[in-house]
Amino acid sequence: MPYSLLCNGTVIDGTGAKPMKNAGILLDGRYIRTVGPVDSLTLPNTQINEIDAAGGFILPGFIDAHVHLMMDSFNLPQMVTTPFSLNFYKAIGNMRRTLEAGITSVRDAGGADLGVKQAVEQGLIEGPRLQISISMLTTTGGHGDSWMPSGVNLDLFPSYPGRPDGLCDGVDAARRKVREVLRAGADVVKIASTGGVLSATDHPEYTQFSPEELDAIVQEAQFRRGVKVMAHAQGAEGVKNAVRAGVHSIEHGIYLDHEAIELMLEHGTYLVPTLLAPVSVVQIAEAAGTMPEYGVRKAREVLDIHRESVRRAYKAGVKIAMGTDAGVMPHGTNLGELGLLCSVGLSPVKVISAATKISAEVLGWSDWVGTLEPNKIADIVVCKADPLSDIHVLENPDNIILVMKDGVIIKDLRNRAA
Ligand SMILES: [Zn+2]
Repeated sequence: MPYSLLCNGTVIDGTGAKPMKNAGILLDGRYIRTVGPVDSLTLPNTQINEIDAAGGFILPGFIDAHVHLMMDSFNLPQMVTTPFSLNFYKAIGNMRRTLEAGITSVRDAGGADLGVKQAVEQGLIEGPRLQISISMLTTTGGHGDSWMPSGVNLDLFPSYPGRPDGLCDGVDAARRKVREVLRAGADVVKIASTGGVLSATDHPEYTQFSPEELDAIVQEAQFRRGVKVMAHAQGAEGVKNAVRAGVHSIEHGIYLDHEAIELMLEHGTYLVPTLLAPVSVVQIAEAAGTMPEYGVRKAREVLDIHRESVRRAYKAGVKIAMGTDAGVMPHGTNLGELGLLCSVGLSPVKVISAATKISAEVLGWSDWVGTLEPNKIADIVVCKADPLSDIHVLENPDNIILVMKDGVIIKDLRNRAA
């Protein structure tokens, strides 16, 4: 195995530890062997390829725990006139932009199927390491039911072999639907336990699925197959129902009340806030006018409530990971979430930890990615400016001068960095 030494930079390892100046990381193929002050590293007595971090800040590859790679805007006219298969080709660019922003692993919250995941694994296309949910389970009239008030079924994620339709009502149907998405290759089961912002006929505070249905889903996925459940859950009651049933993560968590937060603490449930999602809906609506009216209205309604909710959850000790809903906003702009997490009370070092270590925990991958520690996979990012003095520097992909995935450099702007 060829050894490499990544040096001439400051390591922020994702664990929450203080930054380490003049650090070095010894890489053995795709693995990290040692991390420490460069003068104190014990190096193997063989040829070592040196990788100069150009005085930058060396971080773990970021992990976005909530993306939609098969979607690249929420522009309804454009979505309905896009040929079905074109979306797969567009996803290639979405994945490339995600990687170039410094995100080396993602959890796809609906849309990407097993073929998309395998295309990356087999090296046919370059993309982040993928965990997929394929289709979101929802109820008739719920978030994700594509029936429009006109009576038209505006199926934006049409079902096909490999991507089952997610609608199900009743305990048996819900259980069967879990089996269907697992058969199609889902690594995680995505459900909607409340209404949402970008859906025409519901509201974030409506609950979806009865406690019995939620129990059946979690039982079938998590307890029988060891597959975690992630719940799109915005209103407090739907959050509580999902947490009581034993879901692994709450996505969005807009209206968390005291009881919901206490329940999350008690169950160890993760929160993936996606603060960027409603912010982007409003921004895109103002800039381009392409968002549907119901989405903009609901996004405006929740903006401040969402932030306060996440602030209280964090203060109470709920584990916060990074997710964005990328696809609603352009892929590659994901790290805008970091500044928003700072604005609700996380320090920059905690934000970096949320977007690396904690997100790896959400994916169940903390044994091999998420921090810069020995024996983990070399997913590494170098940022040319100090994110601890200004977290916003990470938002701009031009500042991400090096991206390494699996020990292989896939983006290199170091010559332009000077
Ligand atoms: Zn989503």
